[in-house]
Formats: sequence, C-alpha cells, structure tokens
Amino acid sequence: MSLHDRTVLRGIPASHGVVVGKACLVGRSALRVPRRRIASSAAPGEVARFRKAIQASRAEIEGARAALGDGAAADYRLILDAHLLMHGDALLVDATVEVIEREHICAEWALRRTVESLARQLEEASSEYFRGRAADVTQVGLHILRCLTGAPTVLPDVDEPMIVVADDLSPAEAARLSKRPIIGLVTELGSPTSHTAIIARALGVPALVGVSDATDRVADGDTVVVDAIRGELVLSADAAERAVAAERSSSYRAFTARLRSRAGGEVGTRDGELVTLSANLEMATEVEAAAGPEASGVGLFRTEFLYLGRDQAPTEAEQCAVYAEVLEAMSPRTVTFRTFDLGADKLPRSRRFVAGPNPALGLRGVRLLLTHPRLFRTQVRAILRAAENGNARLMFPLVGSVGDMRHARSLVDEVLAELEAAGAAHGEVPIGAMIEVPAAAMMADALAKECDFFSVGTNDLVQYTLALDRTNPRVAPLARPLDPAVLKLLDLTARAARENGTDLSMCGDMAADAFALPIVIGLGYRHLSMPTAAIPMAHAIVERIDTRAAASVAKAALELPDVESVHELVRESFGETLGDLWEAQGLG
Ligand code: PEP
Ligand code: MG
Repeated sequence: MSLHDRTVLRGIPASHGVVVGKACLVGRSALRVPRRRIASSAAPGEVARFRKAIQASRAEIEGARAALGDGAAADYRLILDAHLLMHGDALLVDATVEVIEREHICAEWALRRTVESLARQLEEASSEYFRGRAADVTQVGLHILRCLTGAPTVLPDVDEPMIVVADDLSPAEAARLSKRPIIGLVTELGSPTSHTAIIARALGVPALVGVSDATDRVADGDTVVVDAIRGELVLSADAAERAVAAERSSSYRAFTARLRSRAGGEVGTRDGELVTLSANLEMATEVEAAAGPEASGVGLFRTEFLYLGRDQAPTEAEQCAVYAEVLEAMSPRTVTFRTFDLGADKLPRSRRFVAGPNPALGLRGVRLLLTHPRLFRTQVRAILRAAENGNARLMFPLVGSVGDMRHARSLVDEVLAELEAAGAAHGEVPIGAMIEVPAAAMMADALAKECDFFSVGTNDLVQYTLALDRTNPRVAPLARPLDPAVLKLLDLTARAARENGTDLSMCGDMAADAFALPIVIGLGYRHLSMPTAAIPMAHAIVERIDTRAAASVAKAALELPDVESVHELVRESFGETLGDLWEAQGLG
C-alpha cells in the first residue's frame, strides 16, 4: 500500500500511549438492521427465529449477571434484572410477533419498529418513572437485535484483546467493559475533559476521543493503530507502519515504566519544596491502583459514578459500604469525597433531574443537591458514618456563592446533630468547596472564610470562563487552561487561600497537564490530584521545577494578552528542562 492510501482520522489523546490491534465496534452504531419483506408462509419461521433470539439474549444477560460478583458491581445486577424482566414483556414480545404476522416483515425490522414506538410512548409519559424506562427498552431491544443479526453483543464476549470503537461510552458500559481485555479505546464524542475522556483514563489504556466518523469508517475486526500521542487513528496501516507503531508503543511503555519506578505521592521540587500528588477516582474499583505507592491519597472521588448507571440513588447503606472500603484501602491517607455532581453531562439513566434547555447552566452540582435535600443528606450521612474508618474530607461541586456554601454546611451540621443524637458512630471531616465557577474564584476571599479547603476543578473552570462546552469536540482545541483569563482566576483563588490559611489543591485535569504544570506550581499550587496513571509524569515534571523560577514565569504570564503568548513563554522558559518529557507525550 502506498502512503497515499493511508487513512488517518484525527482525535484527541485522552489517555496516552500507542496500540495496534483489532477493532471492535460497540454501541448503537455497530448494528445494521435489515428490512426484508417476507412471504406470509414464512411468518411462523420468522416468529420462531425471534423467540430463539429472545432466549439467547436472556441467556447472555443471565450469564453477564452471574459473572458480576459482589461489591460495586451489585449496582449493575439490578439493571440487568430489570432487563431480564423485559424479555417477557407482552408490550415488547407479543407486539413484535403481531407486527411480523400482520405486516409480513422480518423479525429485525418488526422488533425495531416495536421498540421505537414503545420508547416514544414512554418518553412522552407524564410520570418520571415511565420516562426512565425508555432507555431500558431501547437497550433491551438492541440486545435482542444483536442476537437476531448475529452481530457482536454490546459487550462482546471475547477473550481476544480488542480496541473498542464507540460513538460514546456511558459509565455503565465503561464499568462493564473494564472487565474485558481492552487494549485501546476510540470514541466519536468527547473532549480532553469530558466524562468520556475521564472514563478512558480510568480504564488506563491508550484512548482517543472526539474522532469524527470513527464508527462509520472502522469495521469490526479491522486492524487499526491508536496513536494517542500524536492524536491519530490509522485505519489502513501496512505491515511496516504497524511495526513502527508497535515499536512506539513499547518505547512509550518502557518510558512510563521508568517514570513509575521512581514516582511517589510526594515529590520535592528542584529547590526542595514539597508537592503532593493524589489520585482521582471515577469508580471504586480504581482504588486498588490508587492504593499503590504512587498516590498520597485520593484528592477527588467522583461519587456520582455510583449513581450514573442506574435509576435509583444508591441507599445510605450501599454508599457507606463503598466509602468505607475506599477509606480503609487508602488508610491512613486522606480520601476527599465529592458529593454527587449530577446534572449537565452527568445524568443518571432515569434523567429524573431535568436540568432545563441549557443543562450546563441549569440545575447542576451543589445547586441540584440543595434542591434535593433528601438525596444530599443521605449521602452526607453515608460519608460521615464511613469516615469512622479513615481520614475523609467532604467537598461540594460547583459552588457558586457564599450562600451555596453556607446552605450546604448547614445541612451537614443538621446531619451531624442527628448522628450524635442517635449515638451513631461517625468521623469528623474537613469541609471544602470545589472552585470551578468563575464567580467562586472571584469571591474566593469570602468563600475561604466558610471553607476548610479549596479544590480547584479546572475542567469546569475553563469551560465556564471561556464559554466553551467541554463535551463538544469541535471547540475542544480552544479550551486551553493556560489562557490568561483562567490564570487570573487561579491566581485569585491561590492568593485567597494563602491569606486565609485555607488548604488549597487542584483536582481538574490541568494538574496533570505536562505543559501547564510549571505555571500551576508557579501560581502556588502544592497539592495536585489526577488520574493515578498520570502521577508518574507529574512527578517527573515537578522534580525538575524550581518554584522561584516558576513563580516569576507565572507572574509574567498573568500580564500577557492571550493564550498563544503564554504558550510561547512556557516553551521558552521550560523547553530546555522539560522538552524531552513533553516530546514523549506528543507535546513537542
Ligand atoms: C473539574 O471540573 O475540573 C472537576 C475536577 O470535576 P469534573 O471533571 O468531575 O466536573
Ligand atoms: Mg467539575
């Protein structure tokens, strides 16, 4: 094949590395539904084929359910139980049979029509409960369709290592995929700070997000190269190119292994200042990696992932068990629990929290919790009770004002008083705010008086400061955290924390951005939290930085008129010291 035939799709590296392997399409787009008319005499055979597919689908789901095991996976058992029940639902099964017999069309087409009409009716229902069932009906329909067409299931049952190619990945799919031999991930949606990207990093395999048309251009079983350093998905690599990619893959792995062997949760800068590196957790199962020697604690536990794959909030007992497990695994290190950050792109399957026409600016984060005090109080009780087992901190997402913080704290005080009155064992926890709304950064001085600590969420801070949707791959290249507008807010926050003696950390992805890190350090941030896999690179960067030099570069950056000038300044100031590390991540 000549280089001319080479097909390359561009994407955004969400988790660094290079991998060559077989593609496996998952999700809706992997399925083509045949539309065949049949003779009336063929209808009984078609109905029999449909019933066999239902049995096969039921058996597959029962198998997946049995394989789930205990612990956090129990959440998914409930979903699968509901799906199993639907396999006997007259509205789905009898209605499809009727369409085959009446309209003389193939089983796939009849099923598709039945499912679409049922889902539409459910979506239009006035009850939230029924609206929430629409997604289940669609998923079950999809599963039976796959059994009918012989297409791979949503979660292919293969032991062969595979590169998953999907339009998007829901948290529930990701959690189930994490049990399969996945060696790479490609999604059409997402930007570096979207939740799809966060999930990709949690899986710890090379991943590209925002790859337009990936599911149309890749066929199941194609050998592809995921170059999540250069940001390329190569569809038609010849043997020589694959060999080069394999070589790049092993040298990147050797490089990260070298970094990992030296990394720890605490690192001294070149001039001897101490910086701590903690882990961000998306799923409780990640705690195993975080509990290794690399992380100084958990700086952000995104608890909403306990809720996102299901319809009902986890109970106090369920939550308490997960939180206690994480605290025990990390003990004596600290675990920072963020209360559910629901809304916008983080909605439970039932979508019972209707955020309005512009969800990123609608009911989200702590605002949503304050309008659902029962949900909030149950979670706070679970965290306070679990805190008996280790060192916990509690923080609220998307705090927008002093009023938000006071309101949330007053509810925590009430829960504490209840626990004390009941003589229930619980721990003492510092309480903090995430600084991720520009208003919170601007009011950081007043907020600091209400908080034991701040943790800066740069993913949202960048989104809201620059008015760039973090879920939209088309604007992702513009969302640059070194924009001076963002730096000014980071500076305000750091100053307010210093002046008020408020503990300060950063848990947004900027803390793991090899290019931005010197400026983050220069602005005075000393506690950083990031995906566990990113810690070794951050460690390597921080130990080469002189904080005094970094502070004077950061000061100069604050005076610059645009992000391009800041990038230029960073390159000039740190290129010599950090160039090889940037190069390794494709930032050259
Ligand atoms: C952030 O916004 O930077 C953050 C850490 O929170 P999340 O990415 O979960 O919104
Ligand atoms: Mg956030």
